[in-house]
Amino acid sequence: MTTTTQTRNAESARSTITTRRRGDVQRWSLTLIPTTKEAPADAEAPSHKLLVRAGFIRRVGAGIYDYLPLAWRTLGKISDIIRQEMNAAGACEMLMPAMEPLELFADTKRDIDYGDNLFRVTDRHGRANALAPTHEEVITELMKGSVASYKQLPLNLYQIQTKFRDEFRPRSGLLRGREFIMKDAYSFHMKLEGAGGLDETYEKMRTAYTNTFTRCGLDFSVVEAEAGPIGGSASHEFMVNCETGEDIILKCPETGYAANVEKCEIGHRPHDFSGDPTGDLEKVHTPKMASIEDVSRFMKVKSPNMLKTIVLARSDEQRGWVVAVVRGDHEVNEGKVKDAVGFPLAMADEAEAKAAGFAIGFVSPRAARSVGALLVVDPDAAQGTDRDKGKPSFWATGADEVDHHVKHFNWRRDMGEFLDSDNAIVADIRNARAGDPSPRAVGAALTEGRGVEVGHIFKLGTKYSRAMGFLVQDESGDRNAVIMGCYGIGVSRTLAACVEMSHDDNGIVWPMALAPYHALVTVMKVDNAEHMAHADRIAGELADAGFDVLIDDRDDRPGSKFKDADLIGIPIRLTLGDKALEQGGVEFKLRTDPGKGEVVAMESIVGRCLEAANAAEHCR
Ligand code: ATP
Ligand code: MG
Repeated sequence: MTTTTQTRNAESARSTITTRRRGDVQRWSLTLIPTTKEAPADAEAPSHKLLVRAGFIRRVGAGIYDYLPLAWRTLGKISDIIRQEMNAAGACEMLMPAMEPLELFADTKRDIDYGDNLFRVTDRHGRANALAPTHEEVITELMKGSVASYKQLPLNLYQIQTKFRDEFRPRSGLLRGREFIMKDAYSFHMKLEGAGGLDETYEKMRTAYTNTFTRCGLDFSVVEAEAGPIGGSASHEFMVNCETGEDIILKCPETGYAANVEKCEIGHRPHDFSGDPTGDLEKVHTPKMASIEDVSRFMKVKSPNMLKTIVLARSDEQRGWVVAVVRGDHEVNEGKVKDAVGFPLAMADEAEAKAAGFAIGFVSPRAARSVGALLVVDPDAAQGTDRDKGKPSFWATGADEVDHHVKHFNWRRDMGEFLDSDNAIVADIRNARAGDPSPRAVGAALTEGRGVEVGHIFKLGTKYSRAMGFLVQDESGDRNAVIMGCYGIGVSRTLAACVEMSHDDNGIVWPMALAPYHALVTVMKVDNAEHMAHADRIAGELADAGFDVLIDDRDDRPGSKFKDADLIGIPIRLTLGDKALEQGGVEFKLRTDPGKGEVVAMESIVGRCLEAANAAEHCR
């Protein structure tokens, strides 16, 4: 019954459908798909609710889940795509243990950096182990014992494996679990630039990730992320675009620049401290008001007219304080403050800052002068004159006295020459937001969206190799610390992110590439042997053409079978019922089609499904 067209289509399907193998055929009654009406009470994220309701995952404990058969199939498809792209980019797969002796962290001190996020396991002999959150130490140790010469480098090794992190607040189902599946790759080089250098592999990984997420059928953005120790744009995140995402992404509509809010630069903003006072400094009693919002409501001052002042402490060997000032409606970006001052810092310890003379919660820029701190002011806060209104800026800020604020703060009058000293700088130190000037195109404004981080590529440099003494002889015989890159993909998070991105009120809408099955054959009368025989035959022909097929052979009401079909989100639906069979065909409908399906003749089913698969965006 195969026509020439079908043969041709079948050929193209082999390259169209994710795998070249024969597809799988599975009966619903022989797998486990425990669909439910109710979502878990604590579930907020659509992917959490839908993956549980559609019988993909089941909670075992906080942030720990069973991957049921449907989820496992989709995870397999994601992993296959990742493997193909990683292998094509010259990386090689291996597997490291999930448990590692804690002593491996002795040199890198990452057990301390990871803090409570690290799962610790003590064995029967009292030896301390960790459940690996990532594998930098294990692989560096392996490489240290295996690579002695530059001739063995570069190398890029990866694994797909379960990771453990004792997240403070595991939430949103698979989006933030305590046990999750990650693909992690580590590359090793003798140099940064040129053939065999880190930069080259980094670019290959960027391409491999772009191919991977495109093939998965995801709508995603590649964004600049918090820079690594090498600096520059040495880190990129891959974000699935969706409104429910945890991360904020900013984009320049003219240049394609995109960055995580943690990193996003803001274009030029002129500043000028000069401007007359709006009145005498007026002290206001503001008892028990913790937030800027409370204070601004109480003082009847809009938050853009408040100065928000944050005290930070220098965290290298030298001690010292930094006072960061932004407008009340803006957020201080610690990473940017760090870049502006040029040394590492952290939020000040409250007790220590108080002892130094800061009235924490009520600090004004004046405290920088009185305590002897470095003052860093964001350009939007460094305004003596309100340029829009053409009159002096009105500012309210802390009074440097507990439970008090002041109105009519004036930069020049109240800070004097301190503003001209080396201890006062103006720099971009706040989080960007929609409408801010683009850092890449004059006159363009940034737009804002949300995303789920599914991948992260990072230039590590020599952080681990130095700490662990992984030195290799270069061409001239010198021993140098090996330069490393690391590249992660959240495999289980990608599954959930796909559902966040692609669902409707009735359930999941899988892109063809990640669907656990491409087609669902629903049999209306399962006790009719002839109908079942048709189903088996259609499924077999589809499998020959490369489709994975699920046959709904449950003895259940049609209504509830259709509801489940919507919920689990299989892209192609074929329904075998009396009406269509009388017309010599089956009802064909895509999950994305509204309304009823069309009757497709038996001999055209494979062709029609191939058309749908070919038309599916990104599907390969
Ligand atoms: P996040 O900022 O979301 O906590 P991260 O930056 O700490 O993640 P990485 O160390 O870069 O994560 O890990 C690589 C990838 O592993 C991430 O891009 C993400 O997709 C995934 N991942 C990280 N933590 C989790 C988690 N708790 N649950 C599921 N996936 C995770
Ligand atoms: Mg990350």
